[in-house]
Amino acid sequence: MAAETKTTCPYCGVGCGVIARVDDDGKVSVKGDPDHPSNFGRLCSKGSALGETVDLDGRLLYPEIAGERASWDEALDLMAKRFGETIAEHGPDAVAFYVSGQLLTEDYYVANKLMKGFIGSGNIDTNSRLCMSSSVAGHRRAFGADTVPGTYEDIELADLVILTGSNLAWCHPVIYQRLAAAKAARPAMKIVVIDPRRTMTCDIADLHLAIRPDGDVALFLGLFEHLITSNAIDQNYIAEHTNGFAETFAAASSLSFNRMLELTGLPAMQLREFYRLFAQTDKVVTCYSQGVNQSSSGTDKVNAIINCHLATGRIGRPGMGPFSLTGQPNAMGGREVGGLANMLAAHMAIESAEDRDRVQRFWQSPRIAVRPGLKAVDMFRAVADGRIKALWIMATNPVVSMPDADAVEAAIKACPFVVVSDVLRETDTTRHAHVLLPSLGWGEKDGTVTNSERRISRQRQFLATPDEARPDWWQMAEVGRRMGFSQAFSFQANAEIFAEHASLSGFENEGSRDFDIGAYEAIALEEYDALQPFQWPQPAGTSPKLTRFFAAGGFYHLDRKARFVAIEPPASDRTDSRFPLTLNTGRVRDHWHTMTRTGKSARLSGHIAEPFAEIHPRDAIEIGIAEASLIEIESPHGRVIVRALVTERQARGSLFVPMHWNDSFAAKARIDAVVAPVTDPVSGQPASKNVAVRAHRFQAS
Ligand code: SF4
Repeated sequence: MAAETKTTCPYCGVGCGVIARVDDDGKVSVKGDPDHPSNFGRLCSKGSALGETVDLDGRLLYPEIAGERASWDEALDLMAKRFGETIAEHGPDAVAFYVSGQLLTEDYYVANKLMKGFIGSGNIDTNSRLCMSSSVAGHRRAFGADTVPGTYEDIELADLVILTGSNLAWCHPVIYQRLAAAKAARPAMKIVVIDPRRTMTCDIADLHLAIRPDGDVALFLGLFEHLITSNAIDQNYIAEHTNGFAETFAAASSLSFNRMLELTGLPAMQLREFYRLFAQTDKVVTCYSQGVNQSSSGTDKVNAIINCHLATGRIGRPGMGPFSLTGQPNAMGGREVGGLANMLAAHMAIESAEDRDRVQRFWQSPRIAVRPGLKAVDMFRAVADGRIKALWIMATNPVVSMPDADAVEAAIKACPFVVVSDVLRETDTTRHAHVLLPSLGWGEKDGTVTNSERRISRQRQFLATPDEARPDWWQMAEVGRRMGFSQAFSFQANAEIFAEHASLSGFENEGSRDFDIGAYEAIALEEYDALQPFQWPQPAGTSPKLTRFFAAGGFYHLDRKARFVAIEPPASDRTDSRFPLTLNTGRVRDHWHTMTRTGKSARLSGHIAEPFAEIHPRDAIEIGIAEASLIEIESPHGRVIVRALVTERQARGSLFVPMHWNDSFAAKARIDAVVAPVTDPVSGQPASKNVAVRAHRFQAS
């Protein structure tokens, strides 16, 4: 009888439970775990094809130094020496870690501990900066901590579900399946999709608002004012649990209806219909994702949404609340252990002397970072201008995925010392590494991840460890030990790391932090192996339960009240006569990130076989583009050449290009080479949407 293992899907932030089975001939098959509370047995196309992506083709199986096979000792000794020398000569801020939402929480914990507590710099940031950091910043501004108030169940219980900046059908498919099933069972449920494109998600929508890029702040400011003028607010909730209402109302009122129509690009009738629906429906959930976060006004968009839920008191009760959907499988886990440059572990603030002291005493570390480190875009700028001289990149491919990707590649190439930990030998990033470390892939590694609804689940090993590949946490602990921190990095197993992380989350907590899983601070190896999915918080002495936050206040600002955030709507138009079109990037249904795994499955690649640009038929005529001809798209930063897909799903004046392909899958398809390195001023998240570009028919010279 072939063995079956319960684990978690490694793709999106839904965090579906998977049962993996390895047959006697080594063939891997998967099915949805019916007992997992995130998916109840469902899987999407990507999850179902996981068994087709676990072969060893192209794997990095041994450490390498300067392109030559090396032993682990040689590689790790060299790293400890070069990092140590760089710190001694130039200070701790001359080194940096760029990590990933693909890492497990245990990996993230060790990376953060090494950088912030022992190297003494805040320079650890993650590719999750590119996916949800505006939500983190918005939560912290409104709630005083990075807390997701609701659960997936709320999406099913709502009478009105608003999906803004979220192509749920393709990017969080199992949530979409749950929502579609809920609507089929309760046809009175209303769904509103707010997206410049008519995506597949619109198939179940009652109303699609084809908003102008970055028109969201104006849309939700207008809603805020409408809720007040139509007497749909909850005066008691506002008075008892919030601050800043009057200033926010004043800011919202300064926006005229005509200006709102201009900024959103929406017909007045649609706008009024949306406002009426929201005002008249008690159970409202607003889900938002990358279309909100990946913007130069991303944090303001998040707060504009949260403002409306606070004003109506529709938060933390069944079927109500703002809901940030994370992109990556462990974006949330990284947030829990300080994987962002501006956070400490356990949701503590790096700016707080009290929090820094608490973490340092817990770690008994010689130092602690005293200020936030560099966020992703600034980190690579610092690599480019020589401030960062030693860089360790883990489980991510920034040469493809960072904005201004050509400049990022040049920076990495010129950096004096670059280490890359990856599962693949050849990526656009590994080719520039001085040291390559082989990591474990899905099915080989073992630890925990946290999904969008704060649910912690186990990823379990069910495949043999290939050759000399090793866990990421082990690699970092070895370097930490070799840098002289033997005691702090003496971990022998990931269960020990999870226990330490749980213990820190409850350390001197006294109910002051929402993220507390102190119940697991003494977890034994067998219990860790058998750990069932659970949501945080779970303080010591409690048992798992379904948790929502803030229905009765209890926010994490000092006065325990939430903050309304007064916001000015940004001018949404970035185009000019030289770059007259707007580019949005995003995902397709069957590929994941830079396709290093999904590209192995013929079934998945068969859905959409090559990179493309969606363009409206009238724009196509204007620039002489025929269906399926090659289109060249340019910005001041770079260019791509992809196939034109002429469709009325696309709004006039804008293009959509997926983010997955790189220059080895097609002639010139790294769309992030075109994306400007513009960031949100609060969160530092890059604006991968609303990029000014021009386009024309490609003619080979
Ligand atoms: Fe995996 Fe996300 Fe699909 Fe679930 S919805 S199977 S987590 S890719």
